[in-house]
Amino acid sequence: MVAVWAGAGTAAAGSFNTVVIDAGHGAHDFGANRGSFFEKHIALDVARRLERFLRKNGVRTVMTRSNDRFIPLGTRAGIGNRSGRSVFVSIHVNDARRRSAAGLETFYHVREGQKLAALVQREMLRNTNHGGNRGVKFARFKVLRESSRPAILVETGFASNSGDQKRLRDPRYREAIAQSIGIGLLNYRR
Ligand SMILES: [Zn+2]
Repeated sequence: MVAVWAGAGTAAAGSFNTVVIDAGHGAHDFGANRGSFFEKHIALDVARRLERFLRKNGVRTVMTRSNDRFIPLGTRAGIGNRSGRSVFVSIHVNDARRRSAAGLETFYHVREGQKLAALVQREMLRNTNHGGNRGVKFARFKVLRESSRPAILVETGFASNSGDQKRLRDPRYREAIAQSIGIGLLNYRR
């Protein structure tokens, strides 16, 4: 759980006109992978679904990648930083040595990101029927650290957990995750 956000200038911090959607990994960087399951493909699929949802809702989007290619982490953050009044959303699949580890978690680095992360996490739990709430957490991930705009990194489930992997292989789950992220973003702007 996360403390109630008590930042000054709340209204200003929640305003954006562009969402930079960052599908994790790409090309030779598979991310988490098990057999025919590749994080890079799941991340891109969720990213495309999120792009579609946001455009339908009149929000401008920028994709750091829209196909299977490799983009360095610093470049990804840079695309966000050059995109004006934007927020940055990085999409990933988790991995753990302990195969029982499962669930959803959302990371942030600065306080504006924390509020956005909490709103996205809440919607994902509400809309996916996934009982695994791993919470909203601070992290020093490079894409978050180097972002000058509110930024979050969403872990959509574990490749290493059979139940989560089954969910992630299901397009309905990926659509629910994408729409939940989108709703969280729209709530943040309000
Ligand atoms: Zn990843």
